Amino acid sequence: MQVDENLARFLRYVKIDTQSDDASQTTPSTLKQLDLARQLMKELDELGIPNELDEYGRVYAHLDGEKGLPTIGLNSHMDTALECSGKDVKPQIHENYDGKDIRLNEEYTLSPKDFPNLLRHIGDTLVTTSGDTLLGGDDKAGDAIIMSVLAYYVAHPEVKHHPIAILFTPDEEIGRGPEHFDAKKFGADWAYTIDGDFPDHIDIDNFNGSHADVKIHGFGIHPGEAKGKMVNAIRVAEEFDSLLDPNEKPEYTDGWDGFNHILSFQGDSTYVEMHYIIRNHKKELLEKQKKEFVFAKEFLEKKYPNAKIELEIADDYRNMSEVLEKDPRAVEHARKVFRSLGIEPVSLPVRGGTDGATFSFQGCPTPNLGTGSYNHHGRFEYLSVREFNLMIEIVKALVKA
Ligand SMILES: [Zn+2]
Repeated sequence: MQVDENLARFLRYVKIDTQSDDASQTTPSTLKQLDLARQLMKELDELGIPNELDEYGRVYAHLDGEKGLPTIGLNSHMDTALECSGKDVKPQIHENYDGKDIRLNEEYTLSPKDFPNLLRHIGDTLVTTSGDTLLGGDDKAGDAIIMSVLAYYVAHPEVKHHPIAILFTPDEEIGRGPEHFDAKKFGADWAYTIDGDFPDHIDIDNFNGSHADVKIHGFGIHPGEAKGKMVNAIRVAEEFDSLLDPNEKPEYTDGWDGFNHILSFQGDSTYVEMHYIIRNHKKELLEKQKKEFVFAKEFLEKKYPNAKIELEIADDYRNMSEVLEKDPRAVEHARKVFRSLGIEPVSLPVRGGTDGATFSFQGCPTPNLGTGSYNHHGRFEYLSVREFNLMIEIVKALVKA
């Protein structure tokens, strides 16, 4: 089929392996992410858009626009997820999708039985994986959407637009995307992260995220003489966990429900460590969940005076709606533009964090928008070319003067 230059960008980017690595101590976590950074910089150079790579692997760029208009930021990430390889991605193009199963390879089939959302794309062109890797639409679709919008405005100087600030970040998938974010260098009055799926979504609510580290020191003694004396750290740890609300677990929650998720439980009868993440969209409810941990610690310390329980709770990120409600310019502008294009915007709670949440708290309100790609982080990922093109039109309209 005829591949236009916008889709060609996407296909070019996904072929560059940019998987990040959460075990790495370096920034960026993997050097291969710089291969895409350099490719994007080369293309920005070709468009005549000033750009720079900072020492942390972030690409900043600026396209001048109409004087007196606010600078609108666009950002996306360059890395791909850890759950599935992003090496040797062989994107497959399926024209005029008929609503039936798509055979990815001998072993794997992308089926509307598993992913009913596929049925929304009948007649559309889909880009899928070859079954062996992820696709990387998360977030190379975002990268390609931003580059396509820039290419359009460079090719059409007669169409006036806002000054545009661009940022491509590494390491979003390992939660380090916003580290070293320089709001001043970015220079946006407000911004949009292009890193979601549905094109009609404007994400404004993400989780508040905290974590709790629990260390339980038991009281060890020869089991033959243990009566009335031994405090087994494993038993106390189990009891600790059972004192938390049994319904507040990821596997029982969705939508606006928060959860406490136990990530690890390690140790022996004398010493146990447990690590939890605590999530809720509502700050007051998150605080309530934290109190459950404090209550469990105090209760068990009273019950087992010979045990020692250490509890540390710290905050990781906050719900950007706190900022977006106080400074609604980014969201109001997006809603107005969506409606002018005949799209009724939808805002659903995001059950995770976004880079934009951190940017928002650093003074740059940054809701999250879609990309037209779905089933992220695995071999069943796919891109709807129609929705990808729609996102390019939406973002063009967002920065138009
Ligand atoms: Zn992403």
